[in-house]
Amino acid sequence: HAKSTGANRVAAFEPGMQTEIEKLFLIEEDLKTALARGQLSVHVQPQFNKAQAVIGAELLMRWTHPERGPVSPVDFIPVAETSGLIVPLGEWVLEQAAMALLALQRAGWDIPLSVNVSPRQFRQLDFVDRVRALLQRTGAPADRLIFEITEGLLVERSDSVLVQMNELIELGIRFSIDDFGTGFSSLGYLKRLPIHEIKIDRSFINGIPDDEGDAAIVRSVLLMARQFRLKVIAEGVEDQQQVNFLFANGCEGLQGFLFSRPQPLDRWLAQAAANPR
Ligand code: C2E
Ligand code: MG
Ligand code: MG
Ligand code: MG
Repeated sequence: HAKSTGANRVAAFEPGMQTEIEKLFLIEEDLKTALARGQLSVHVQPQFNKAQAVIGAELLMRWTHPERGPVSPVDFIPVAETSGLIVPLGEWVLEQAAMALLALQRAGWDIPLSVNVSPRQFRQLDFVDRVRALLQRTGAPADRLIFEITEGLLVERSDSVLVQMNELIELGIRFSIDDFGTGFSSLGYLKRLPIHEIKIDRSFINGIPDDEGDAAIVRSVLLMARQFRLKVIAEGVEDQQQVNFLFANGCEGLQGFLFSRPQPLDRWLAQAAANPR
């Protein structure tokens, strides 16, 4: 009976019943077998331009635990990162992206797909080789693949990261700075690295247009991006006022619940196949 309702499943994760450390430990133990047991899946959230056309989409990992139900990436991604599990998990998402790009190509949908890439993946010495091998094995178009990285990776200022990024760019892969504005990095990397896109963090999109601070930040980021010829995607767009503000200030793509919630990748691909471009 205790496990029969959704509310009780959630309660198993509430502080007070388990310490934070116990909770993380349980997540890590269960996450180790999640991929092999088919508990992981990939969702996709499309991005829209002013004409309401889909101009790209981001892949997002999902985990459905057999007893606890859906576990948020906010809870399990950090555990995957500290434990190193993000390396095989991230590669699996990349494989899904490659297959999805081929399916989109068959449907005539010439749009890029974005995947989140953890700093931990970059720390593998053979990261670039693995990505190259994956692209060769699948035949997926590298120039339709966008790697979302965070400012944290660039803060490391490690030469090997820069070398790897440039090698990946040579393959045709493009880079996007995720959660832009929330890190502690300098903007210097914008002149050193061929970044293609930035994604304005949801926390700034939240307050526009009424919060003057958020409005000033978003306008400034859009102006700066224009100077650097960067594409800008706004994350977490939830209402029409935000849409109006963002398009009025030259934002190229919007992503958020207002347009589309993340949905299962296979369902989305089936829709694309049914509506060839
Ligand atoms: P992110 O990359 O910044 O992804 C955007 C997050 O915002 C997603 O949360 C998405 O569901 C959510 N979102 C989108 N639109 C809205 C909106 O209008 N309102 C609100 N409130 N939220 C919105 P999600 O899927 O829970 O993922 C959270 C984070 O987990 C991601 O943030 C990313 O940092 C990480 N993550 C997810 N999948 C992967 C993955 O495959 N690899 C890695 N390394 N990290 C991942
Ligand atoms: Mg992202
Ligand atoms: Mg983000
Ligand atoms: Mg993020």
